[in-house]
Amino acid sequence: MKKYLALEDMVNTNCAMVLDIIQKKGTVSRKEITEISELSWGGMTKIVNKLLEKGYIIETKSDKGTTSGRTPTFLSVNTSRNFIIGLDINLTGLNAIVINMAGTVLENISAPAPQKNYAEFLSGIIDFIREITEQFEENSIISLGIAMQGIVDHKNGISVKFPGVEGWENVPLRYILEKTFGINVFLEHDPDCLLYSHLQYDKKENITLLRIDKSIGMAVALYGKMIKGEGVFEIAHNIVVPNGKHCICGQNGCLQAYISPCMKENIVCESETEMLVEPLAITIKNLSNILCSDKIILTGTLMKHKHLFEQQLDYRLKKLACNTHIEFSEISGYAERGAALIALHKSINSLII
Ligand SMILES: [Zn+2]
Repeated sequence: MKKYLALEDMVNTNCAMVLDIIQKKGTVSRKEITEISELSWGGMTKIVNKLLEKGYIIETKSDKGTTSGRTPTFLSVNTSRNFIIGLDINLTGLNAIVINMAGTVLENISAPAPQKNYAEFLSGIIDFIREITEQFEENSIISLGIAMQGIVDHKNGISVKFPGVEGWENVPLRYILEKTFGINVFLEHDPDCLLYSHLQYDKKENITLLRIDKSIGMAVALYGKMIKGEGVFEIAHNIVVPNGKHCICGQNGCLQAYISPCMKENIVCESETEMLVEPLAITIKNLSNILCSDKIILTGTLMKHKHLFEQQLDYRLKKLACNTHIEFSEISGYAERGAALIALHKSINSLII
């Protein structure tokens, strides 16, 4: 279906889609953008002009003239400025990448986690970001995307809870970092960042991602779009075994009660992972029913030990008649990449046309 944009709809229109087309094609003409995006000529022109004005894209002239005598011009992404940092903050360490507008990774930086109290952890984050920004020319970094564990209020940029860091509660991280560095900051829940990375290349529409470490985080995409909200899809304390193991929350049989003993100080406990298989299989079966999942991605530290439970899990899922495709994802770097890409797309979409 052709989507024409009326001029009054132009504010907050999909600039990211146009940039995405330019990124994927490398160099592209205005005519091709109009054909691929299905935007009207006027709508495309407004967006392209704004992207040119901000320096996000550049215009080049072709060497070859046309029969009409006009020199054709092409657009490509400006890769020499406007960089974005993607930062993954977790208890085991700080990991960051810097990308350009074409999504190419320019830097990859890691540091151990700062001390486990509020003041030292926060100043450790600030020092780490400063170290990154100092490697680049002044004003060349335009935004920062953060993947954050715990409970995140992404709309207001607040890290509500970050278990494991003493005194860390309702920290207005976006405000603090925007004030310190003068760049746009986007704070996101880390499973959302992980899933966002996958969505860049995964053509399946309904994808559910479960990140299992010492606890479980979840992200959901329906029809190829992320579903988000503070406190939604929190499944750690769903009861999966009636009258089962006692959980720290006071209930019996929570999923969390079976996950938390599996990893102790990054050492896996084999007998506990065996006990997790059944509750995890039931969780996957129920989620794929509710969310019509085409695929469920299992990621997080526990997946480094998937050989301990992969076969049993597969067997249990078959017994439960669950045919959803399960993908184990052990590749690191997805969280910071997703955070950077979310920041890139949000920065572009917030342009006022
Ligand atoms: Zn519980």
